[in-house]
Amino acid sequence: MQKTIEEIHGDTEGVVYQLPVYRFAGSSPDAPSAYIQAALHAGELPGVVAIHALMPRLRQAEAEGRILGNITVVPAANPVGRAQYLYGDLEGRFHLGTRTNFNRDFPLLDRPEKSALPPATASATVDVRLKRLLVELSIGHDIVLDLHCDDEGVPYLYVPVELWPAMENCAAAMGVEAVVLWQGSSGAAFEEAAIHPWLQLPPEEAALDRRVVTTVEFRGQRDVESATAASDAEGIYRLLATRGVIADEAAARPRPFTGIAAPIANVEMISMPRAGAILFHVEPGQRVEQGARLATIVHSPGEPDGAIAIHAPQAGYILTRIIHRSGRAGDDIIKLVGETRSARPKDGALED
Ligand SMILES: [Zn+2]
Repeated sequence: MQKTIEEIHGDTEGVVYQLPVYRFAGSSPDAPSAYIQAALHAGELPGVVAIHALMPRLRQAEAEGRILGNITVVPAANPVGRAQYLYGDLEGRFHLGTRTNFNRDFPLLDRPEKSALPPATASATVDVRLKRLLVELSIGHDIVLDLHCDDEGVPYLYVPVELWPAMENCAAAMGVEAVVLWQGSSGAAFEEAAIHPWLQLPPEEAALDRRVVTTVEFRGQRDVESATAASDAEGIYRLLATRGVIADEAAARPRPFTGIAAPIANVEMISMPRAGAILFHVEPGQRVEQGARLATIVHSPGEPDGAIAIHAPQAGYILTRIIHRSGRAGDDIIKLVGETRSARPKDGALED
């Protein structure tokens, strides 16, 4: 294994961020390569601890000569966001300087090669330079895993529809409970930047059945636990074995995917009709019928009619809910994967 440290200069003099990168060299030139990064949204740490649990497995595989394809690991992909503490709270989703989501506006290349990257410009802000660097590190890998988490949720994947159902064995290997299939634009999220160049190629060159591109949502922000880190690391390891990056017959044993796979248009973003305190009546992983009470919003405490109930617009599966217990009118508080297309489907990414 080789460790390097990428340096990213901040937007002011005297500020330099460091990004450790770990590389394992594969022994077989034909084997698929893999790139794994975590905490692009800097406060989402389940993937970071999963990588920490995965690394000893990779080192062991390397010592035993079982690493077939090149593997690049970036355990903490966003040192810029990681430093953005504001009055005690971490703002790891949006860059404070530009108010841009760290997982949007990645460069979309027209071919999967470093030479297709836009030129590095000295005047670009630090978040733009970070995004360019992450694309440069990941481009050309057959497998790209971007480890995130939701507010509160089950483990689930976003997968480009072009890679489904070929990626069903990956979802099964990782043991996730749901897969949300998206198509088109996601506001140039990292995942879109990873698949976009391949989709520009003719099918015989793109070899999409060899590609794995996914945003992995490892449950919720507070699910940073030894046990889930170990099981998530095991899931990633099984995926690498299943796709032939690592030689391990037992880990690569096929298993069925028993979760839900649904188009993103089926996802109901349940929003608050009024501001107030949120009482949830459902939790992630639960199935609900149409009309089921999902939450009560207490908007005028003390008044006889001071609360309003929110009901399920259709039958489905509770994927996530927000971490807060208060909100504003219009805030999305639950993602429900409906059995059919939503009457109000979201175009592109589900959230800002
Ligand atoms: Zn995220």
